Formats: sequence, structure tokens, C-alpha cells
Amino acid sequence: MLDLILRGCNLPDGRSGIDIGVAGGKIAAVEPRIAGEAGREIDAKGRLVTPPFVDSHFHMDSTLSLGMPRLNQSGTLLEGIQLWGELKPHLTVEAIKQRARDLCHWAIAKGTLAIRSHVDICDDRLLAVDALIEVRKEMAPWIDLQLVAFPQDGYLRTKNAVANLERALAKGVDVIGGIPHFERTMADGAESVQLLCEIAAKNGLMVDMHCDESDDPLSRHIESLAMETVRLGLQGRVTGSHLTSMHSMDNYYVSKLIPLIREAGVHAIANPLINITLQGRHDTYPKRRGMTRVKELMAAGINVAFGHDCVMDPWYSLGSHDMLEVAQMGLHVGQMTGVAEMKGCFDAVTVNGAKTLNLEGYGLAPGCNADLVVLQANDPIEALRLRPARLFVIRRGAVIAECPAVESKVSIGNRTLNVDFSRRV
Ligand SMILES: [Zn+2]
Repeated sequence: MLDLILRGCNLPDGRSGIDIGVAGGKIAAVEPRIAGEAGREIDAKGRLVTPPFVDSHFHMDSTLSLGMPRLNQSGTLLEGIQLWGELKPHLTVEAIKQRARDLCHWAIAKGTLAIRSHVDICDDRLLAVDALIEVRKEMAPWIDLQLVAFPQDGYLRTKNAVANLERALAKGVDVIGGIPHFERTMADGAESVQLLCEIAAKNGLMVDMHCDESDDPLSRHIESLAMETVRLGLQGRVTGSHLTSMHSMDNYYVSKLIPLIREAGVHAIANPLINITLQGRHDTYPKRRGMTRVKELMAAGINVAFGHDCVMDPWYSLGSHDMLEVAQMGLHVGQMTGVAEMKGCFDAVTVNGAKTLNLEGYGLAPGCNADLVVLQANDPIEALRLRPARLFVIRRGAVIAECPAVESKVSIGNRTLNVDFSRRV
């Protein structure tokens, strides 16, 4: 006896008219017509059913703090950093937890069931680490949180960051972070990459660094990160986040760099909403877009995921934690309007994110976790176009969020039509 059957699903790979059977929190069958009954049946009505969205790069310690203690009037990175500094002394464990919970509720409603969050370890109190470790445990039945120990003000540059990172690891943080381009010199940046990768290797942990989040074409720490990955045998477990300097790099150098990243099995994360707003700020015109070379990285066979990075915090006043908004922005900024490229943008907020986070049991095959999202769209490209309602969000076979289909009633003369913007192509 199955617990749940979703009938008449369209799958991201293009199959349609598929039933998905669920038993014991796992996917039991994925086939055209599952015989028999289940405890609950959901008619997907030919809509897209996908594994959940994955946010590969986020900052849960600052999210939803917009307006505290004041708004970012200029909208710049520098004023954002200043604001975060003003807020830090006033943070409490309970306030961070409450905002993180609120964000998790938004994420779940939007069908995002895994988030990798960086957490600042440069505050000696490590309040945010304590708070988010508690939220990770509290929310674990519904959403997977991975925490990255992030030395926001520089690993070598900040007094106590080395010791704080060790303390954060002892508390149970999952991933080693870094910010080599923010160290004082290129040499310090390279040294921080080496030291942090060695700590990861020694502790059997993954690495995810804010790497080259800069318009400086000579910011080349991704090169060190790739080489340390190879040297320490960390292939598949290391991620370069942002990589925005690649946007501005010399093409000849990039032709050498991309194969190196590929060879090292390093994952790349772009944060389109944040990269397009924070990079290129010193430019007049033409103004650089600043997002890394997503199209070229994907074409070279490198796993590229997209992150939301920020929602209503000192750096970004907007957002509702919708990974389809992120993917849509990535598509536009990267001019990824080819059919395979658009599908690649959908993958960047689903399967590629799962690969980056090394999530177990993710996917639509029998044996995978029964974590599924039913969207009010026919296929991944329509999902990107409409950023539609998440009709059902399912975790381990149980519906944990629902939204009625969104339709407008349009009255023309004496006729009333229902409009939902859907169009089968
Ligand atoms: Zn970030």
C-alpha cells in the first residue's frame, strides 16, 4: 500500500503523464500508470513536478534584518558592510533564530527544502553560530540547512578568526568558508585558501568560499582553490562562490582557468540577484554586469548552481526567497535564452544545487526521498517565465505547504474568462 500517489505529472526531463508513488517517505515508483490506491492521491493535472529547489548560497544570520538599525540609503556593498557592523552588537540568539525561522517558512512555501547558509564567525561571541545550529536541528524534519563557517572580515585579517573558526567547528558547523579576496594581500589570500582547505581535509568537511567577489580581473584566488582541491584530494567537495572577477578577466587567462576548475571538480555558484546589483559599481558606462561566466562554465561541464545570497538584509532590500526569481535573473544576466541554457538555469536551482551540497537521496528516481514540488506550470521553461504558485510542497511524502492555483477573472463585455498565463508549447 502506497502512502501517496501523484497522478499525471510532467517531469523536468520532459516525460509527461507520469505517476509518482510514495511509501515510507521515499519514492517507490515513477511510471506511466500506477495501479491501485494510496492513502492520499493528488492529481497534478499535467503540471510540472520537480524535486525541491535548493539555495546553495545564503546568509541566514543577517536575513530579514532590513531596517535594523536603519535602511541602506545608497544601496551599496560598502554601506551594507557598515550597517551589518552597526547591527552586530545588538544581535541576540533569540532574534537571529526568529528571523531564520521566518525565512525557513518562506523558503518552504516556495518549495525550497535545502539551504546552504554562511554564518559570520568574526564576532567573538559566535551568537549566530549558536542560533543557526539550533535552527538547523529544529527545522531538520522540514528543511535541510548546511552551515558554512564564514570569516566575513577575513580569516588572516581578523584578530581571533583562526580561533573562532576552530570553535565554530567544535560546535558543529558543516562546511569551511573563506574570503581570500578580502585578505590584505594576494599572498595572504592564497595562504588563507591553503590553510582553510587543509582544515577541511583534516576534518573531512566540504569547502565553500566567497571567492573573487570583485570586479578586479586580477583577483585569481579560484586558481589557488582549484589547485588546493587537487592537492588535497577534495574533488567534488569544494565550491567557489560568486567568482565575479571572472566576468572581468582576460579571455586568454580564462581559457586556461576553466579547464583547471573542471579538472579539480570544483563547483561554481553564481548569485545573480546580488551580483547584478553589487558589481560594476565603480563603472560609468559601459557598466559590467558582474555575474561569473555561467554559460561558459556550464558548457565546459562544470557544475554551476545559483544562490539567493540575501533577502531583506543590509546588502539587499528585496526578495521573498523565490529560487525561480534567482534563476530567471541568472538567465537574463547571462543571456542564457537558448533552450538547453534555459533548462540549465532551472537545473542551477535544483539538481546542480543538490550536487553542490552533496545532498543524499535527492532526485526523482525510486529510492530517493519523497521531496517534491508541484508547480502551476507545464515545464521548467514555463516555470522560469511565470515563477508560478507552488501548489503542493511535499517533504518525505507529507504535504507541508499548499497554495491554491492563481487565476485572474477577466470580464470582457458579457464574457468572463479565467487567465493563468499558461501556454503549452
Ligand atoms: Zn554571500
